[in-house]
Amino acid sequence: MTNVTLITGDGIGPEIADAARRCIDATGADIKWEPAEAGTEVMEKFGTPLPEATFESVRRNGVALKAPITTPVGTGFRSVNVYMRQQLDLYACLRPCKSYEGVRSRYTDIDLVVVRENTEDLYAGIEYEKGADDTCELIDWLNAHSDRKVTADSGISIKPISVGATQRVFNFAFDYARKMGRRKVTSVHKANIMKYSDGLWLQVSREVAKDYPDIEFEDRIVDNMCMQLIQKPELYDVIVLPNLYGDIISDLCAGLVGGLGVAPGANIGEKGAIFEATHGSAPRYAGQNKVNPTALILSGVLMLRHLGKMAEADRLERAVAAVIAEGKSVTYDMKADRTDPTAVGTKEMADAIIARM
Ligand code: NAD
Repeated sequence: MTNVTLITGDGIGPEIADAARRCIDATGADIKWEPAEAGTEVMEKFGTPLPEATFESVRRNGVALKAPITTPVGTGFRSVNVYMRQQLDLYACLRPCKSYEGVRSRYTDIDLVVVRENTEDLYAGIEYEKGADDTCELIDWLNAHSDRKVTADSGISIKPISVGATQRVFNFAFDYARKMGRRKVTSVHKANIMKYSDGLWLQVSREVAKDYPDIEFEDRIVDNMCMQLIQKPELYDVIVLPNLYGDIISDLCAGLVGGLGVAPGANIGEKGAIFEATHGSAPRYAGQNKVNPTALILSGVLMLRHLGKMAEADRLERAVAAVIAEGKSVTYDMKADRTDPTAVGTKEMADAIIARM
């Protein structure tokens, strides 16, 4: 039996968490769920959107399936998602993007995996506000040490890229490629312009690639990568990117396969792994048994593979694919006409998936 924390989230979270849990249980995977609360709805009870017991459960079990959580605006609480990623040092964001027959998209036969470095780059949060004392000091220093002048009315965001963080995300990507039988890893960068950050990224990725001679390796400049993904997505397999490009390109790839409703994800590190849909808590649909549970269920497929439960994962993925391909027992967003009265609810779509296993 494997212990897994189930964070039910808020908004549409509890409904899709229930659907995903039932589907995963139906595979026969021997999971002991530890339900845990988080989100805006528990703030009054605990005074925080992330109760200590929830965080402690994730830390103890090392694996969580997490439904979306609303980031409250203007309350002073930071994003629970960002907090857990930082505290547990979940440095690799994994986003497989795969075409399923029956999902409306301009593309077919897409099968890409995006791996995004989660901890560095322009997202490290090292920022200097225009006009602040430390910003003026920094600008004076930069102007004294560089030929390029920064004007006094500038705001500044810093882009750190380190050897250590780049090595570990590429080791993760190559290990994942090996484990999943993938053929190629592509390192994405803008090393021609940012020689000391993206240049270092490229250099380290080339070094790490030498340890994996069985996996093909190549690199692409990020702007060219965008065009190639639109024109020839079939050329790519596992794509590894620094934080900012990774954020943008993972949405681009989700768009290639039909959007947020079918985009699973995971944030993984040495101390734990959190599996979650790419979409948010869609508060206006909360409690209506209406939204699509597929992205969280497919996140469950990733979780089962992470736990080594390959047969169970394949069984669940096949059942999801069959229900989507048939196009009958699917939620409104998967129908050609979103007002189609034959659309089923979240629970009924999960029932149809379970019936296929
Ligand atoms: P959202 O993903 O919740 O919604 C965007 C659009 O997609 C909406 O039209 C919504 O109705 C639709 N949608 C989302 N999930 C769907 C589903 N499963 N089935 C059918 N339609 C679906 O994004 P948002 O509105 O920008 O964010 C809402 C809240 O979610 C915010 O507070 C945000 O911070 C939070 N959020 C949380 C996470 C997370 O927990 N990992 C991720 C993204 C956003």
